[in-house]
Amino acid sequence: MAIRSIHITGSPVLHTRASEVEVFDRQLSKLVRDMYQTMDEAPGVGLAAPQIGVGLRIFVYDYEDADGKPVRGEVINPILEVGPISDEPASIEHEVEGCLSVPGERFALKRADWVRVTGIDLKKRPVDIEATGWLARIFQHEFDHLNGTLYVDRLAEPYASEATKVINERAWGKPGVTWMPGLDNLED
Ligand code: ZN
Repeated sequence: MAIRSIHITGSPVLHTRASEVEVFDRQLSKLVRDMYQTMDEAPGVGLAAPQIGVGLRIFVYDYEDADGKPVRGEVINPILEVGPISDEPASIEHEVEGCLSVPGERFALKRADWVRVTGIDLKKRPVDIEATGWLARIFQHEFDHLNGTLYVDRLAEPYASEATKVINERAWGKPGVTWMPGLDNLED
């Protein structure tokens, strides 16, 4: 297993629709193992393959549900059904999101409270999960990555302008900028 460097916004792979996984081989198994290890080291609650520079439709997630039970898995070639999204402004107390590809930053974003994700896992077993709250948010965030969308692309004002400013100030928003979990500390 290996920790992989995480691409920062501006890297073309993050802004491109990822391709369906068609070949289930040892290389794919290694990729998914590396994704778990990279997510754990970062640490993050989810990671999509494009974030480590691989344009394939895979994400992993690791979340503790309301009962404190860990919920962890990979979803390959996911399909996402998304519930309604309220017109209310996002709460800066309860609806703040972050992304390992915009490291150390957080902005409020309204998301649907309910989703259903279907797909398959590494062993080609069906995945079918209904989620609400934070897990629903994680699934929406990771699924977006597979379509070349970052959460900062979805922000309303004033957060959209704030995000653009931060990305410019940090000299992100161009190809070739990455960080390495465990080596670089970008969480401040
Ligand atoms: Zn992200």
